[in-house]
Amino acid sequence: MLKPGSSALPGRRYNPIMPETARRRVLTGDTPTGSLHIGHWVGSVKRRVEIQETHDCFFLVANLHAFTTRADKPEDIRRDCMEVVRDALAMGIDPSKASIFLQTEVPAILELTYLFSMLLPYNRVMRNPTLKDELKVKGLEDNYSFGFPLYTVGQTADILAFRAHDVPVGEDQVPHLELTREVARRFNKFYCGVPDKAPDEEHVDLGGVFPIPEADVGKVGRLVGTDGIQKMSKSLGNSILITDTPKQVKKKLGKIYVGIDNRQPNDPGEVDPEKNPLFQYVETFIDSDDEVAELRDRYARGDNIGDGVIKVRVAEVISELLEPMQERRRQYESDDVVMDILHDGCQKAIAATEETLAMAKEAASLRFFDRSINI
Ligand code: ATP
Ligand code: MG
Repeated sequence: MLKPGSSALPGRRYNPIMPETARRRVLTGDTPTGSLHIGHWVGSVKRRVEIQETHDCFFLVANLHAFTTRADKPEDIRRDCMEVVRDALAMGIDPSKASIFLQTEVPAILELTYLFSMLLPYNRVMRNPTLKDELKVKGLEDNYSFGFPLYTVGQTADILAFRAHDVPVGEDQVPHLELTREVARRFNKFYCGVPDKAPDEEHVDLGGVFPIPEADVGKVGRLVGTDGIQKMSKSLGNSILITDTPKQVKKKLGKIYVGIDNRQPNDPGEVDPEKNPLFQYVETFIDSDDEVAELRDRYARGDNIGDGVIKVRVAEVISELLEPMQERRRQYESDDVVMDILHDGCQKAIAATEETLAMAKEAASLRFFDRSINI
């Protein structure tokens, strides 16, 4: 694994083993807590499909993090890993361009998690607003495992193990990314001699192991769920899934809670479409700006158009979006095909992260012997 002539002795400097590619590196992923939904598409996956053409992309299935809430259901998690991969492929992730891999097959991530947990004050981890929010909405406030807050540290390792530059994510992940940036800065300062106030973009040139990664938030950073209140979320049962039939989409949208603006056609008075969560779906999924403007205008004036009409139209466009995805998904029904894609992705992820781990261990005076990992 080592570049010939490099030293395996403990020291402050590291030797990059392979030249950095000119392409920027991307890491992002999903927890296998259930099937993917249209919030994933607009928040992250659509962007992944675009940048797999131009970036070195690694997409992670965070199966260990799924144990934070379902440690008693390992078989369900395993099944969901396969389904999440199928959904990602259905949405257009191309395994010949991007590596899709399982978190638990990449030991460097877990080793870096432990090391990084030493670089973060406990109170800093617990202050993370997304973590607090998740504990609340998932009903875990008084009863969560030690591993639950640890997953946020794990996520810093997911990203930094790849020395990723860009992280396409929804809005809820931005605090996690901030934590990741802090870990990278601190590591580069403690172990690589990068000065305290060095600009983020100069860390690598100044000898830091880790670039300071940036969040790349999708067009819609937080799609509301069909409850009309919470973020659409796999675990909250408020999702329109990639696999939903037109009938299911229509039924789910039919039930969406539209808040105080709910009313019948031809009601008098102006209504503010901004306050109706349904209009986020209108803006997100209807491509024609003219049609969006017309719907907003007619809705506000109460021009023979109520929530029901909008729901039907939104259901129609969402089903049109899902149809080619569902068609593509059929190519990946076989478990063997999915396993082959994962095997290839895991091999590439192991190679990339073992390189980072060797660099990080050398920088932190932890590199005593070399190793190689084969699967
Ligand atoms: P869970 O309920 O288990 O937390 P989730 O639906 O939040 O599941 P994750 O696997 O946590 O999904 O998130 C995967 C990616 O999709 C993240 O980048 C996240 O920000 C993004 N994402 C998830 N839900 C939405 C949403 N409703 N709107 C925009 N982006 C989203
Ligand atoms: Mg989530």
